[in-house]
This record gives sequence, structure tokens and C-alpha cells, in this order.
Amino acid sequence: MPVRATKRGDARTPLHGEWDVLICGASFAGLTIARELARTDARVLMIDRYEIGERQTSACAAPTTWLEQLGLMDAVQQTFGELVVHVPDRTFRWPLPFTFSTFDYRRICALLREQSEGSAVFETAKVEGRTGFTVHTDRGDLSAPLIVDALGWRRILGAGANVQPPNARLSRGLEVHPHANGNDLELWIDPKYVRRGYSWSFPADGELRVGVGSFDPHDHVKEPTLQLASDVGVPAERWQGNWIPHQLRPATEDGIFFVGDSAGHCLPTTAEGIRPAFYFGLALGRELVDVVDGRQTRGQALARYGAFSDDHLWQYRWLLRVQNWVGRITPTRLLSPAIRAISPPGLVRWAFGNYRDICPPEFALERRSAPARPVRPAAAA
Ligand SMILES: Cc1cc2nc3c(=O)[nH]c(=O)nc-3n(C[C@H](O)[C@H](O)[C@H](O)COP(=O)(O)OP(=O)(O)OC[C@H]3O[C@@H](n4cnc5c(N)ncnc54)[C@H](O)[C@@H]3O)c2cc1C
Repeated sequence: MPVRATKRGDARTPLHGEWDVLICGASFAGLTIARELARTDARVLMIDRYEIGERQTSACAAPTTWLEQLGLMDAVQQTFGELVVHVPDRTFRWPLPFTFSTFDYRRICALLREQSEGSAVFETAKVEGRTGFTVHTDRGDLSAPLIVDALGWRRILGAGANVQPPNARLSRGLEVHPHANGNDLELWIDPKYVRRGYSWSFPADGELRVGVGSFDPHDHVKEPTLQLASDVGVPAERWQGNWIPHQLRPATEDGIFFVGDSAGHCLPTTAEGIRPAFYFGLALGRELVDVVDGRQTRGQALARYGAFSDDHLWQYRWLLRVQNWVGRITPTRLLSPAIRAISPPGLVRWAFGNYRDICPPEFALERRSAPARPVRPAAAA
């Protein structure tokens, strides 16, 4: 885990001002938007409570083609063409129609930052709230006509009171990162660890990311993570965990743009949130480019981006149905036949192909997202 580098105490000087675009959150989604805006002359400020790449937010496994298309292959640690799925009495090997790679978080953030050619100014500041188009931080107030919330599941810049766990539509994930090696991308669907959810071990070049995710926010995951680490034979050290949204939320609200986990873009069932953060980050970044270059108003961008995100509702609903189904298979002895039934290679290829198409990697190469549906009349900008 990286050493803390965030400015503290006296180094946190007051920060005020007006910008063209204010990006709150500098992880997968926020950095992707800054990268798009690099081709404009806009005055962009990006803020995060930590230095860029300082605090890893995930197990960092993503489809390799996405990393390729975004020019991020230098961060890749290991690549996998198979998924090994363990149920209580059996192990299945699913050949995947596309590969997944684990990557180094700090490195990928640095690469994304390099790609924005430093055009966005970056400052560490903790976001505390918002009034209209002014964001309140622990270092002062910042204003911009275009404000992005890429702050993760808390959706801090949303209107009204936020729903907190365990009542929100959130899963919870916790993992350890011991120094160890492995060859397989492994999943466990086993109530021994978690009743409704799954567990994983992702090797990443001398590190194993071993963790447990529960779709039910009431169920604790610390004890199961300790047990899984012990079963895998690794020390439970270097912890990382967070809440994970599993329901799509409106991607625009009160004139603010939401992206990544703040919009619930993380995919239900798999809790894969990096690829959607890239995908919706690109879509939003392209809309913002058109606003700052004068080709559309903020209101049009809000309408277009909101409609684009909403057009994925049916896919998210389907994945949520599958998620609700996981863990309802009782007794446990039926798990093995259920997984066997979905294991023929043709079926795995079909399912993963459809899953991939929810946020397809080709999108990274498009210059601008086509309107997902006719653009609604512009709201007041
Ligand atoms: C244990 C675990 C393992 C996971 N593994 C995977 C995986 O292998 N593959 C995958 O695709 N997805 C994985 N996910 C999901 C994935 O991590 C998220 O969906 C993804 O990180 C979302 O990206 P984001 O940019 O929207 O938000 P985040 O990556 O969460 O970034 C939010 C940023 O906002 C900053 N921030 C938050 N609050 C404030 C504040 N008040 N002020 C200032 N800054 C703030 C944070 O410091 C952070 O930099 C995992 C999640 C967990 C919890």
C-alpha cells in the first residue's frame, strides 16, 4: 500500500476560486474525465482528499482490452484467460472470451494523469458539501458552472440527505493484499465465506488480493476475509475495503454530473466498477468538451449524459436480478449443479460476450458518444 503523501497541517493552505470545470474525485472516473478535457483550453480543477494514486480503491482487475484502448498497459501486472470458480464441492474452469488483467493502482492513476498532460490543476482537499454551484471543502469554497461528482458511493454532491448503509443499495467489499504469488483468477461461491455474495483471489505480480464481497450490507465481511486468507494460506495484512453500489442512480441531479460509483455505475453481480467508471467517464468527458468548446449548453450536456446513462437501466436491472438470485440457492448441494448448468463453454462465451457489451471497449476509441436517443429540449443552463 502506498505511503501517505497527502498534504497535512500547514501545507493545507486555503483554496478558493472559480473554474470552468470542477472534478471532485481523482480516481478512475475523475481522471478519465480530466484526460478528455485535456484537448480543450478549459480551466479545470480536480480535487481529491488524497494525492493521486495514494489510496487504492479496488482489487484492480479489469478487461485487458479496456486497458489497451486507453493506453494503460504499462500498469498491467498479470493477465488471465480463464476464471476458476469454486463451489463447496467442486471447481470449474471457465475459458473467457476476453482476458482480464490485474494492474498497479498507483501506476494506472499516474498514466491517466500523464495523458491529461497536467492540463487540469490538481489539489488535495476534502469535499464537505455543496450549495448551488459552489463546493465546500476543508480548504475553502470552489465554484464552477460544470461540477462533476466522481467521489464514489457517498454521492456527496447529491441534492438532499444521502442514504447511508446498511439501508442504501450497497454491497460491501473487503480484501487483504499479502505478498504472495498465484496463477489463477479465482472466485468462490461458497456460503462458508458469505451467504449472499462471492469471494476472490486475484494475483498481481507478487501480491495476492484476497477478499470477500457481500451483496447484503448487513452481513459483515471481516471474519470471512480472515478465514479465506487462512484457507488460501496467506497472511491477512494490508487491508482495503469499501461500500460498493449495486443500483444505477440518476447520473445528473440539480445541475451536477455524477459518474462512476456516485452514479451507481458499478455493475451488479460482479461488482466490476473500473470499466464502467472509464466508460461513463469518457461519455461525460466528451459532453463536457462540447460545452467548454461552445458546441452545446450545460443543459444539453445534462440531458444527453443523463439519457445515455439511463439507457443502460435495463442491463443494470438484469444484473441486479442475477445478483438477487445468488445466495438464494438453498440447500448448498444445489450450487454445484446450478454452476455446472451454466458452465458449457458456448454458454460462458455468450454470457460474457453480452456482459462485455454493457460497456464495450470500442467506446474508448470513439471521439464522441452518439446520442443514445433523441436529445430532449435543453433544460435551463
Ligand atoms: C474491496 C473491493 C474490491 C474491488 N475490486 C474491483 C475489481 O477488481 N475490479 C473492478 O472493476 N472493480 C472493483 N471494485 C469496485 C471499484 O473499486 C469501484 O467501482 C471503482 O473504484 C469506482 O471508481 P470511481 O472513480 O467511481 O470511485 P473511487 O475509485 O472510489 O474514487 C473515489 C475518489 O474520491 C475520493 N474521495 C472520496 N470522498 C472524498 C471527499 N469527501 N473529498 C475528496 N475526495 C474524496 C477518494 O479518495 C477517491 O480517490 C472493488 C471494490 C472494492 C470495495
